[in-house]
Order: sequence, then structure tokens, then C-alpha cells
Amino acid sequence: CASSSVSIPPPRCLLGPLEAPLRYMFGPGPSNVPPRILAAGGRPIIGHMHEEMFEIMDDIKQGIQYAFQTQNNMTIAASGSGHTAMECALFNCVEPGEPVLVAINGIWGERVAEIARRIGADVKTLVKTPGGYFTNEEIEQALAKHKPVLFFLTHGESSAGLVHPMDGIGDLCRKHNCLFLVDSVASLGGASLFMDKQNIDILYTGSQKALNGPPGTAPVSFNDRACKKMFSRKTKPGLENSWKLHKEVAEYLHEGLEGLGLKLFVQDKNLRLPCVTTIAIPVGYNWREITQYVMKHHRMEITGGLGPSVGMVLRVGLMGYNCSKTNADKVLVALGDALKHCHKSKV
Ligand code: PMP
Repeated sequence: CASSSVSIPPPRCLLGPLEAPLRYMFGPGPSNVPPRILAAGGRPIIGHMHEEMFEIMDDIKQGIQYAFQTQNNMTIAASGSGHTAMECALFNCVEPGEPVLVAINGIWGERVAEIARRIGADVKTLVKTPGGYFTNEEIEQALAKHKPVLFFLTHGESSAGLVHPMDGIGDLCRKHNCLFLVDSVASLGGASLFMDKQNIDILYTGSQKALNGPPGTAPVSFNDRACKKMFSRKTKPGLENSWKLHKEVAEYLHEGLEGLGLKLFVQDKNLRLPCVTTIAIPVGYNWREITQYVMKHHRMEITGGLGPSVGMVLRVGLMGYNCSKTNADKVLVALGDALKHCHKSKV
């Protein structure tokens, strides 16, 4: 209406009460939430610094310690799905470049291998088709061969319906100086698991399966060995670190490019985008010939300009995982080589 400043009206669907049908949740999770737990979700909100909140958090910690059969002090309920705990374990305990061994006998090993690769870990895999499991001999051979800092195994592989034998694997990991990380999202409470007795260093689960909670809480526990690894990391995980890395590598690349006699397109250093470097096309060269040359002889993509910058610049992107001084060196070698070999007109 004319007197209102809002142009988007309130959605009609949100004007009535929330409707959620009663369903028999007989798939691989989430499962039905029993009345006692549903009622707990209806209790009043209290402040996160209120004394009762600390008591509740301590009670939850004791509950997780019991369910995990552990005395680990570093035992928490992370807010998020099972994936949150999976990421939490990997991000905190693995640094870029470190070897990690992942047992894959279904989707969850695949998922962990993918996350570990994105962290920049050197991922080795032990693979079985769904329904397969790994003998202790196979695991020991792989530990001896790859010398990983961490070995991942899924206790309850929900994509294949397999519960993995656990005995002796934690001991093998200790023998080979490696952390043992176990996913029990689909098994905890439904199949026996003893974190301390089985020498599991990091264990996580989800709330929405045999624990019958609503999704959104991910219990995870780290023992002293895992804490030691976590607290002695050399690199810090996180966004600021990524910004810093891109800036450092870009500056390194820029110096190297100037060393080759090339001119950077953006003259003000503070205005240069760290992940995409634009180089003014050197006088007398055809940019297409340069990009084709490095593709053919160095298996490397660098590109020309885009839209209005076509014919003005060459673009080099060193992004995320690709952002390293070693890769900047590869670019410098390739461009140096291209400058020598590509036709230079007599203009
Ligand atoms: N691991 C296993 C073994 C699972 O079964 C699941 C969920 N199906 C997950 C991890 C991921 O948990 P979430 O869906 O809570 O992120």
C-alpha cells in the first residue's frame, strides 16, 4: 500500500503455523525423535552465558564420553551435521602436504578423501567395492608403505550397510605413528564401539541416527595424541591464511615477471588482484602465440584478455590449491621460454 515502505509483501506461507507430517523414518537417517527429546527442544531459551547453560554443556559432554566410551577431555558437541565433525577432525589434524590414508568402501571414505584433497593433503587410498572390508594385514601394509599422519575408517558404512571390524587397528596406527580417525555417524549407539579401548584417536558421530536427536549436532572427541598434533601445527587453517598466501605468492610472481622484462598491467601494486595477474602483452609479440606455446610445451593454461581487455593482457591465475611459489616458478619458466621462442615482429 502507498503508506508502506516495503515493496516485498510477507510470504503467505509463513503466516500460518508450521506443518510437519508424522512419518515413519525408516531410512538410513534421520530417524524419528522420541517424545522426551522433542519436549526438550520446546524448553525456553536461556542465555549462552547463564550458569545453567554451562551445566547443560557439561552434562552433554559426559553423555558423549559415555556413548563414545572415552575419558577424553576434548569432547564436544559441534553445531552442525555429521559433515561438520568430519571437517573439524580433518581440518584441525591435517596440514597441507601431509600424507593421509583413507579407507574407501563406500561414499563416506570417498567424501573424506575429497575433503582431505581440498585441504591440500597428499591423499592415498585403500579401496574396496561397497560391502568389502579391510583386513588388519592390508591396513598394516598400507600404513607401512604410505607412512600417513592419519588413517580414516568408517565404522558403519551406511551406503553399503557394513559395520567394520575395529579390533587391533588402533594399535597398528600407534605402531606406525599415525592418528586413527573413525566415522561413527551411522553406527554409534547401534553397534558397539569403544573409543579408548580400541585406541581410536578421533571419533565423531551425528545426532540424527541411532542417537535419535534432531539433525544439527555433531559429537566429536580428540584424545591426547590428536590434541598434541592439533596444537603443534605449523600452519593455521582459515580464510586469513588464504588471503595472506595469495598475496605472498602474487608478489613473488610479480617480481619474477618483472625480472623477465615483462610489465604488469595494473601499475598500482595495491590494486592488483592477488589471484589473477594481468601482464601487458610485450611489444612485438602475439599473445595467442604465447598462450599456445605454453600449452603445447609446458602443458599449462594461461589466457589472453576477456571482453575489453582482449589483446591488451595475458592472464595468469594461481588460485587456492594452485597458489604456491613452486607453481609461480613453473609459470616463470614457461613464460621465459615462450618469450625466447615466440615470434617477435620487427616493429
Ligand atoms: N558418515 C556416515 C557414515 C553417514 O551415514 C552420514 C550420513 N548419512 C554422514 C557421515 C554425514 O552426516 P550428515 O548427513 O549429518 O552430514
